[in-house]
Amino acid sequence: MNFVCNALLTLCRFILICSSLLVSSYSSAVNMPLTPELQVLFPTASHIDKDDKDLSIIPVYLFSDIVGYAFQTAEIFPVRGYGGKPIDIMIGLSPEGRYTGFVVIDHYEPIFMKGDGPQRLVNYMQQLIDVPASNNIYIRGDNQKTLKGRGKSTYIDGITSATVTTNAINKTITKAARAVAQAKELAGYASQSHYIPKMDHFEKLSLSQLVERGLVKHWSIYKQQINAAISDKKLGYPSQPVSIENQPPLAELYAAYFSHPLVAKNLLPDARYQDWLNYKTEGDQYVLLFSKGLWKQQPFSNFLGLKQRNTDVIRKKVPDFDISKELPASGWDEVALYRIPPVATFDPLARTKMIFKASPGINLYDDFQLPAGDFKAELNQEANELALWQELWQQRQNEIALLTLGLVLLTMLFLNQHYAVLNPKIFHKIRLGYLAFTLFFIGYYAQGQLSIVNLLTVQHLWMEGASLTSFLLDPIISILWCYVLISLIFFGRGLFCGWLCPFGALQEFAGILATKLKIKRWKIKPTWHNRLQKLKYVLLISIIGATFYSLALGETLAELEPFKTSITLYFIREWQYVIYALILLLLAMKVHKFYCRYLCPLGASLAILGAFPIFNWLTRRAECGTPCQNCRVNCEIDAISKEGDIDMKECVQCLECIVINYNPTLCAIEVADTKRKNKREKQADNIIASTVDV
Ligand code: SF4
Ligand code: SF4
Repeated sequence: MNFVCNALLTLCRFILICSSLLVSSYSSAVNMPLTPELQVLFPTASHIDKDDKDLSIIPVYLFSDIVGYAFQTAEIFPVRGYGGKPIDIMIGLSPEGRYTGFVVIDHYEPIFMKGDGPQRLVNYMQQLIDVPASNNIYIRGDNQKTLKGRGKSTYIDGITSATVTTNAINKTITKAARAVAQAKELAGYASQSHYIPKMDHFEKLSLSQLVERGLVKHWSIYKQQINAAISDKKLGYPSQPVSIENQPPLAELYAAYFSHPLVAKNLLPDARYQDWLNYKTEGDQYVLLFSKGLWKQQPFSNFLGLKQRNTDVIRKKVPDFDISKELPASGWDEVALYRIPPVATFDPLARTKMIFKASPGINLYDDFQLPAGDFKAELNQEANELALWQELWQQRQNEIALLTLGLVLLTMLFLNQHYAVLNPKIFHKIRLGYLAFTLFFIGYYAQGQLSIVNLLTVQHLWMEGASLTSFLLDPIISILWCYVLISLIFFGRGLFCGWLCPFGALQEFAGILATKLKIKRWKIKPTWHNRLQKLKYVLLISIIGATFYSLALGETLAELEPFKTSITLYFIREWQYVIYALILLLLAMKVHKFYCRYLCPLGASLAILGAFPIFNWLTRRAECGTPCQNCRVNCEIDAISKEGDIDMKECVQCLECIVINYNPTLCAIEVADTKRKNKREKQADNIIASTVDV
């Protein structure tokens, strides 16, 4: 049945393309067939218009009727996801401003790179088909109090363990779609500019001073530049730079942001300025284009395009406010005032691209950006809109509060560790309770498993010179990393590995279960233990080295970490990954924290960074090592040498040796001392008793 439908659809499409090509041969536009992505977005469409292909918005047609627009989010409104790069999605938008479909073009979201990840992304976005682009998108169950935004809301199912990615997708989709809807003047997309001119300051400025200040753009166009553009087009690559020295310009163009009083008041006589104030309408913005020169095809402004965010700026000529006689200097060939309506969402502080269309296919480019110092933020809702990372922090404020409380308690425990260990029973309960908090709250609930992938992402962002704000997208991960980096300086790697790593905690629970089940532990021989310990450093170097070559390869190797399987995805994943994670947990039942000791690249990186902590409160006695081996035998991770020294690169700060050290009933030296003392006291008692008898 499916086959028959597909065959019919293909036949229809073939007929439509043939018909449209036939039609196109009689029209000036050159039509092109649909790409596979466009076929997904618009299954019944026939072609696109080749004339529009250099625009980021592709109009899609069925014969001569437009059936929608296609565009890529990375070009219109890029939003970086968890992987540090923009998630690029091709979106179809109907003329009514509703989503028609989504195709993922490119992304670096670690959780969606492998297995059924891409399909899960597609399924997530399919929920938005036919939803108006004006709607705000929320995940069901999001913190309702923190949700902001005007207009209607659409609630969809989220993806487990992918809060950052889904929020980034929601933002990039809605922002890009609204920009396109506004650019194409689809109904109901009015919006105000975020910045408005400062009105309270005036100074007398000439035209050249306005140009110098950046409020007016002056562009000189030379014949030689046009000839070079023609030759570039023929060659297919850029030719030599042209010399325009001592050459008269073909055209001199001025583009003035007329909405700014500094511009209008300086260019107009006082009386006319008053007329202008009465004439202009609230909410609209105005650009004045005036030109002169040898260019004979008039009006010149018809050959000039303005673009922002790769989208044509919508502008309408103002025919009934003539100021051609009032402008400074004279001899202007054209003075054209343009109104930019609110739907254009023209941002005076964004870069505006200017395109001079000298002849079909021959364009010259320049741009301008108005000076931020002459504008102020408009205090409306849009201007107050939060960045994605701020929204995510707001949404997760309860989790942030609980995590912060947990970290404060842990810090207090560490600062008072010598008191905390005085009662071993209570201390062991506290430690077990904290490990449960780490596993169930930090790991499973708040999804705060730190991973080598976080470091790879930072490395990649740094290599690309990109902003590190994408690292802030997950508040739990950001807070934990800040805390861990500081704790590395003071306590070494152990504070994280012994207390805050969910998979580390899971291994400890596996070990406790093994003890309860009376499963015999393996003791790794010291020579093998020393050799195997180095393996994790080799793995770390391999992963980081691979990332320099390709982030995707680095992330593939980082699958060595069982964190994604066992914590992030709750063991719901392809069977190979699940088996691997289970094997590591079985090994943890036989060898205490097997994965941490020998394999963990994250543990290795933390060991290097925290090799020399400021505080070493794991106090030792003179007898530790010689002759006493009690702590060494009881250190389950084998971080104490025969000489009694603690290897801070391996120690996970479980504080067990401190428990022993500070308890007279556990420390072998204290026990022996007590025995000797008791013996002496007994002997003294015996002597006294025998003296009394005599
Ligand atoms: S060594 Fe790795 S798995 Fe073990 S506790 Fe440290 S980070 Fe977690
Ligand atoms: S017993 Fe002592 S040396 Fe061994 S891991 Fe625990 S704190 Fe570190």
